[in-house]
Amino acid sequence: MNTFTDAQALVSPDVIALLDQAAYLSTNGATLSREQHLALQALADQGFLVESREAERADLERFFADFRDDSTQLRVTVLTTLQCNFACDYCIQGDHGDYNKHAGRMSIDEAARVAAWVEARLDALRPESFVLTFFGGEPLLNLPVVYLLAERLWAATAARGVTMLVNVITNGLLLTPEVVDRLNACGLNGVKVTLDGDRATHDLMRPLRGGQGTFDRIVANLRAVAGRCRISIGGNFDHSTVHSYPALLAFLRDQDFAASIAKVNFKPVIGRQGVAAGGLIPLTPVDDGGKPLGGACMSTAGSGSGSPCDACHFVDEQLAFLRAETRRHGFPTPDGVHMGPCEIHKRHAHTIGPDGSLYACPGFAGEAAQAVGHIGGTRPGHAGVAARFSSIAAWKQCGDCAFIPVCGGGCAVASHNELGDMHAPTCHKGSFDTALAALAQDVAGRG
Ligand code: SF4
Ligand code: SF4
Repeated sequence: MNTFTDAQALVSPDVIALLDQAAYLSTNGATLSREQHLALQALADQGFLVESREAERADLERFFADFRDDSTQLRVTVLTTLQCNFACDYCIQGDHGDYNKHAGRMSIDEAARVAAWVEARLDALRPESFVLTFFGGEPLLNLPVVYLLAERLWAATAARGVTMLVNVITNGLLLTPEVVDRLNACGLNGVKVTLDGDRATHDLMRPLRGGQGTFDRIVANLRAVAGRCRISIGGNFDHSTVHSYPALLAFLRDQDFAASIAKVNFKPVIGRQGVAAGGLIPLTPVDDGGKPLGGACMSTAGSGSGSPCDACHFVDEQLAFLRAETRRHGFPTPDGVHMGPCEIHKRHAHTIGPDGSLYACPGFAGEAAQAVGHIGGTRPGHAGVAARFSSIAAWKQCGDCAFIPVCGGGCAVASHNELGDMHAPTCHKGSFDTALAALAQDVAGRG
């Protein structure tokens, strides 16, 4: 597979041998058979053979520069609130103690300023499409802000001839046909709901404040909105919950709304520096200020791609296991190869916190020290943080890795949390290798 062009080829061992000898043959002027010559030409045409390492490196630099500056799409993720109606044990956010009393919540006035800021970006950038993602906390706890932004920006994009898509990442508790219908009128693309395993496991992991389970209510809500919108199911697993996912998949397969599930994508929760591989998990504070990080990339929900977040060899193996299980139960899931680069590498992808602060990606949102700007204008300190984020290019430390175009050096949030350095690669090459082998086996099986 050529991860630049997505060219894929299944070849016999003699072609592999020829590939291994190509540099020697070309530099020693060896006489090639017509078959060898044609094979090498085909490999060059598909980009499997390149002119030189330097030329390939230059292509890579151009690829990331073009990806970064691409102005055809404006992406904005809005955290309508950091409040949450769940009290997940593993999460610092949520309905614990007096967290919700102090957690940020976007006001209607701030939402109007966000809308004006987006309109100005639309005028400056003139993109072909605009993607608005609602995230939190639990975004549906602040429906007035959701509706104001969706409806005003729907009108703004229509007036400018820009295509608009809306994604909602929600815990599902407040998801109703009314919410979906109102957002459908503004270009709703999909709703992503999290189920952390089978009923017993999910209820343990994602309870209400009083300990009541949430699984049944979420499933009832999914049934009520099925057919009205595209549904994606996500789930955050760790070593203690991963084995409950096949039961969840079997349960989902048996539901009357199974055919409405467009995608299932489970991912590991992000650890933090000093936490043993496979140990406890996401949404953890990373500084003495105790401010939460988003902890997981939600930015790709509904887009058909995943993100190369997290953690250890355990993760690589379990990701492969869950991808295979998901496919076996008949649900579409990302193939584990066509992943990134993620939106932290994009100049025109923004995350906006409840107070109007701008962040480089959802995983860093909510932590004031990581704000790269504010919709009201740059404040002292922002320029330095913005420069730190815009120079993220962990892939430059990845040598000749063939997965650089789809990985980009891994998740900067994971690097920040686990390695204490957002500029270092977080490598899951094993996961890419396994996914690529599965892809090849699948194609070979179909052939
Ligand atoms: S850095 Fe990590 S959390 Fe942020 S967009 Fe990329 S994959 Fe997602
Ligand atoms: S070496 Fe690892 S982190 Fe770097 S691009 Fe390859 S898979 Fe990604």
